[in-house]
Amino acid sequence: MSEPERPTARRPYVGRFAPSPTGPLHEGSLVAALASWLDARAHGGRWLIRIEDVDGPRCPPGADAVVLSQLAQVRLLPDAPPVWQSRRGAAYQAALDRLVAAGWAYPCGCSRKDIAEAIAARGEQRERHGELVYPGTCRHGLHGKPARAWRLRSTATVDGDDPLRIDWLDRRLGAQSQDLTDEVGDFVLRRADGLWAYQLAVVVDDGWQGVTDVVRGEDLADNTPRQIRLQVLLDLPTPRYLHTPLVLGDNGEKLSKQNGARALDLGDPLAALRRAGARLGLPALEARTMPEWLEHAVSAWAVRQG
Ligand code: GLU
Repeated sequence: MSEPERPTARRPYVGRFAPSPTGPLHEGSLVAALASWLDARAHGGRWLIRIEDVDGPRCPPGADAVVLSQLAQVRLLPDAPPVWQSRRGAAYQAALDRLVAAGWAYPCGCSRKDIAEAIAARGEQRERHGELVYPGTCRHGLHGKPARAWRLRSTATVDGDDPLRIDWLDRRLGAQSQDLTDEVGDFVLRRADGLWAYQLAVVVDDGWQGVTDVVRGEDLADNTPRQIRLQVLLDLPTPRYLHTPLVLGDNGEKLSKQNGARALDLGDPLAALRRAGARLGLPALEARTMPEWLEHAVSAWAVRQG
């Protein structure tokens, strides 16, 4: 079953850059930041920064300040003070309570081992990005186990097992589709260690901040159907999505802090902007200063987006 189209009233453009401060920005994250900033400016919109520090243990103290100062050095300045997700727990709890009350979210008592065993017992092995697709063991009750995590039912209806397919449109990638039930399964909203899951936090905050346009790296595209599902269930509008090309390192792998991508070299901030612009497919632009380069880049971006 597919989600019916929901009417989306035109809202004033609000974009955002939402870094997880697990370390300083690297070249790939500057590309995503610049793309979201350019798109906001090209639409005459507002641009926000949200520090996605829900996974506290992975965020070293002070990394958020480093990220903000790196953005300031390349003149990517937000139109409102940044928001920290670590201060938004009450809003995430309210959203979870609402999903529980409606029957969409349920407590799960399974450990990783329980999940692996349940899957093995069914004689099927379903994995996605190295994660086992949850077999739905606790969907109908905890069977005496203590609650560990909270999950969202990925099915079409709250009391049935019919699969749900989510169709969505990406401004660069075009028509996309994912069978949420089979490919993703019932996904985590609050983890066993008490931390809020990215999927819930991002949806609650994009809704709260009035974000109309999400522009981010293509590695995140695959999360979009989960986020659209949560928007529907929480009565939040679905933003437009644009996933930008990934920046690959010399080894052909995606640049990320995990694979040791170098921190952004801001010795010459204008040169860093030029490199990020080139990765977004912008032509070489005549400019002697950063404000001049950014102004020309906005025009070039607007032309390219049509
Ligand atoms: N915090 C996420 C990251 O740094 C990005 C979230 C998003 O843009 O939706 O990968």
